[in-house]
Amino acid sequence: MVDIEKIRAEFPILDQEIHGYPLAYLDSGATAQKPQTVIDAESQFYSTINAGVHRGAHELAALSTEAYEQGRYSVAQLVGAHYGDGDDEIVVTGGATAGLNMLANAFDHASFDGIEPFALHRGDEVVVSRAEHHSVLLSFQELCRRTGAVLKALDLDDQGRIISDKAYLESVITHRTKIVAFTHVSNVTGAITNVPAIVTRAREVGAVVVLDACQSVPHLAVNFHDLDVDFAVFSAHKMYGPTGVGFMYGKRDMLEKLPPMNFGGSMVELAWMDKPAQYMAPPAKFEAGTQPVAQVVAAGVAAQWMMNIGLDNIEAHEQILVPELLKLADIEHVKILGPLSSQDRIGTVAFEIDDVHPHDVGQFIDSRGIAIRVGHHCAQPVHRHFGYYASNRVSLGIYNTSEEIQRLCSAVADVYGFFH
Ligand code: PLP
Repeated sequence: MVDIEKIRAEFPILDQEIHGYPLAYLDSGATAQKPQTVIDAESQFYSTINAGVHRGAHELAALSTEAYEQGRYSVAQLVGAHYGDGDDEIVVTGGATAGLNMLANAFDHASFDGIEPFALHRGDEVVVSRAEHHSVLLSFQELCRRTGAVLKALDLDDQGRIISDKAYLESVITHRTKIVAFTHVSNVTGAITNVPAIVTRAREVGAVVVLDACQSVPHLAVNFHDLDVDFAVFSAHKMYGPTGVGFMYGKRDMLEKLPPMNFGGSMVELAWMDKPAQYMAPPAKFEAGTQPVAQVVAAGVAAQWMMNIGLDNIEAHEQILVPELLKLADIEHVKILGPLSSQDRIGTVAFEIDDVHPHDVGQFIDSRGIAIRVGHHCAQPVHRHFGYYASNRVSLGIYNTSEEIQRLCSAVADVYGFFH
């Protein structure tokens, strides 16, 4: 097992008091804290080798290109993607939201140009789930609005899991389905989706599969080849890396077929005034403009840092804490929105306290030095599924401890009495 105190010592931000209490940071689902090595990587890049990548003929440009590609390589390793033999599968994006919009826009361009297997026609179907973050829901809803395709949703069971039995999937994912886009792990319920069942059904009907891996990559050992998805997106800042950057995985043959949707420098071989440009091969085809080089370098360091700890160790440590978190359900007036057992879920737990507004809950908990998130977490349909508009959410990272969860539980236990 890993030494959590040693890991905590790598995070300068954790070493502080909030309102007179040691900070307990239980909001890693929003953004994870950064170890010193990641913080240093970004500033060292700027103080030693900062230069534009891929084009310069000078030494700094060569070094920054090497560092940028090393970042891509580490991220590729983290998620089991190809790198380096002309078969790169990791595209740099501005984040998961940017990646999802990029994909939806690319499918729109493909529809305009009739590029299969992505082209959508009136009456085609796109399937998402009711558990989606708005960045999936709205990107694909807009795509449907523009192309005339129909948006359908996979329903959730009473504990918020995407229903995935064979007969149900066959009834929703049909021969009219061209794209299936869904979350690997819900940012509200913490439920892990049965990806193989959905992928199997999508393959039967020839649909393209897009996975939102924002909440899985930071917590589980994820291999996109094993999951057999066509595309996946995730954000660096949720996996101990910097803000402002994320990644889109695409199977190599898919990236080759997918048209670009952002245009400009760094993505074109030949440009003319009077005929269409000839684009570069992926991933450059999708990385128009000056790249977020320092951020990719630091994201690569974060990926390497996670691999050094061991993805299985990260998962195991967080899994030990899940049953302790689920004890929230034993507190009077508290209801959990999500799976009530530790199986197939991560340490993200949303909960309600009878007749206490989540903002009041959040402030009360904060007054004890504990950071949780309140609101709808950019996922309104899943809240409606449970009959609520908003909730309180705790989400773990590798640095959290049993003691912090005990502090959380005793603070939550005091909330109802304080407000009534
Ligand atoms: N998808 C899920 C499941 C998320 O939790 C988030 C962020 O909260 C996103 C997508 C969007 O990620 P970002 O805000 O980093 O673009």
